[in-house]
Parts: sequence; C-alpha cells; structure tokens
Amino acid sequence: MDDCIFCKIVKGEIPCFKIYEDEKVIAFLDINPVTRGHTLVIPKNHAATLWEIQDEDLMAVQVVAKTIVNAMKSIFDLLGVACMQFNGRGVNQLVMHYHLHLVPRSKGEPVPPMSSWDQKPGDPKAIAGLAEKLASRLD
Ligand code: 5GP
Ligand code: ZN
Repeated sequence: MDDCIFCKIVKGEIPCFKIYEDEKVIAFLDINPVTRGHTLVIPKNHAATLWEIQDEDLMAVQVVAKTIVNAMKSIFDLLGVACMQFNGRGVNQLVMHYHLHLVPRSKGEPVPPMSSWDQKPGDPKAIAGLAEKLASRLD
C-alpha cells in the first residue's frame, strides 16, 4: 500500500531500527517505546487487521515473536513480556498495517500500563450466553 508507513519500512523507503527480517516478516524497535526493547513484528504483505492477515503470515509473525522474546531473555533481566495487537480505530490501532507489539518488562521497570487492569467479575449467565452465541458462529 502506497500510503502505509509500515509498507514503506518493508520497502526500505523509510528507516527503522531493524532487528530481524526474512521473506515474510520484519521486526524493528518501536520509536515510541513503552519499555526498553519494545519491538514491533509485522508481516511484509500488507494487511490491516487480524481478520485480513493471511494465516501463513500470521503464523510467521508469531514464530518470529518467539525467537525475539528468546533474544530478549538473553540480554534483559526479564520479568515478563506483554504481547499485544490492536485491530481497528475503535481500540486505538494507529498504524493500519498488522503488527504485534512485544513489550518486555525488565527488573526495575514498572508493569507496562497495557498489562494491568481491574479484574471485575462479569455476570455468569451473560458470559455463558455469549460463549454459546460466539461458538455457534465459528467457521
Ligand atoms: P498501534 O497501531 O498498535 O496503536 O501502535 C502503532 C505503533 O507504531 C506505536 O507504538 C508507534 O510508536 C509505532 N510507530 C508508528 N510509526 C512508526 C515508525 O515510523 N517507526 C517505528 N519504528 N514505529 C512506529
Ligand atoms: Zn502496509
């Protein structure tokens, strides 16, 4: 896509701090890091969201994410890694090219904001009803 910033990174038209590349995937550091080592893993083929990405690209992104997390473990004093991925403007997806965030938390760093929220029990009847409805719609 011509006006997609991540497609431009894939094509080398704009620079990035690249840490990995193969025929399907590229990974680079986020320029607005939430924590030290915040990484984005993206498919080279343009797809905006989880419902658009091809399965083989999705799998390739996940496998590369695992490799990168192992590298993080070897250089950071790692307490955990939040893996996040947003789909759609309604959940604040800013760049409409599928990307998986890897947000490591090392010793001495606070819990990343996106991995802490209030746990409030839902209505079990409503949850059960919704589970049934969703399950009935799976292809
Ligand atoms: P999201 O779409 O998941 O809400 O967030 C997009 C992410 O892409 C943000 O964390 C933002 O900092 C990052 N980002 C946006 N433009 C660039 C860029 O040109 N280079 C890099 N490395 N990251 C970017
Ligand atoms: Zn793109």
